[in-house]
Amino acid sequence: MYVPENLPDLLQYLDSHQIGVHLIANGTDMINRIQRRQVNPKVLVDLTGLSEFRYVRKDAGVIRIGALTTISDLIASSIIDSRYEVFREVARKFGGPSIINMATVGGNICSASSSEDLMPVLLVLDAEVRLRSIHGERTMKVEDFVKGKRTTQLKPNEIVVETMFREIGPEGSCSFDKVGMRNSLIIAFVNSAVYLQLARDMRVAEVRIALNRVSGKIPQRAQMTERKLKGSKLSKQSLADAALTLRNELRLTSDFRVSEEYRTEVACAIFKRTLSRCIQRLVGEQVLV
Ligand SMILES: Cc1cc2nc3c(=O)[nH]c(=O)nc-3n(C[C@H](O)[C@H](O)[C@H](O)COP(=O)(O)OP(=O)(O)OC[C@H]3O[C@@H](n4cnc5c(N)ncnc54)[C@H](O)[C@@H]3O)c2cc1C
Repeated sequence: MYVPENLPDLLQYLDSHQIGVHLIANGTDMINRIQRRQVNPKVLVDLTGLSEFRYVRKDAGVIRIGALTTISDLIASSIIDSRYEVFREVARKFGGPSIINMATVGGNICSASSSEDLMPVLLVLDAEVRLRSIHGERTMKVEDFVKGKRTTQLKPNEIVVETMFREIGPEGSCSFDKVGMRNSLIIAFVNSAVYLQLARDMRVAEVRIALNRVSGKIPQRAQMTERKLKGSKLSKQSLADAALTLRNELRLTSDFRVSEEYRTEVACAIFKRTLSRCIQRLVGEQVLV
């Protein structure tokens, strides 16, 4: 185990020792993978001393979340006010109390597993990640960062330092939900997030829909359904049409947990539920579902 005392030492170490070196934040995912022999690190590099990456900040209309911020830190932040109820929705269904106190935002993004809960939310918020190595920084969309199951754009000498997204304005709203076998310590059958922006006449000015545990085993946007909804006037009918489009767009898979048919039903149901919550938050009425 290498425990760097500061960021320059860490980046120098990563640059000169790239083979067999794995980063570890609070280890809720990594320790499991080591125990299951899915990874076999020669050296673990402990990031937890880098407390400068544990923050939630707002600057010039951008929310910035440091990689070492835990889910508990996130929802305790005064910046994460009622407009960001979506993160409390994530936390309510995220592991259990001990896990939300440990799980870091950076660890969740870098795990790139098909069941991570923050990913669909970051996708619909159009979030970016900032990466740093000894040679400098680069920024990319979260959407581009995850390449496939357990693979990201991260180079062996880089770390994720933060994720950031534009503040949600009064005309926007976001919601998340997931369904699994039980109500806590849930590995989702499907999880989904929706971001919605309404015009004054209740037309959809912007909508982004993301689901995890879908085909390709990485979180993805439902762009056909987004196109169907964008510009439409919200009504029971337009929501039913969108759910039908989603049903056709989804290419879900069966696994030992659940069949493709059931997963599709659940995906459509939680899509309608999250979209309805967004509408309710924006117009204050229980509509549509
Ligand atoms: C019982 C249990 C329940 C769980 N429930 C949920 C759940 O409901 N929802 C959910 O989404 N997840 C869940 N998880 C998974 C896990 O808790 C999360 O993915 C968590 O956010 C990982 O954070 P960590 O700090 O523990 O990451 P670690 O395990 O330390 O690291 C995870 C991966 O990210 C990399 N990494 C970490 N930080 C960085 C960084 N800054 N830069 C580059 N790479 C980095 C590591 O190298 C590793 O590959 C659960 C895990 C357990 C054990």
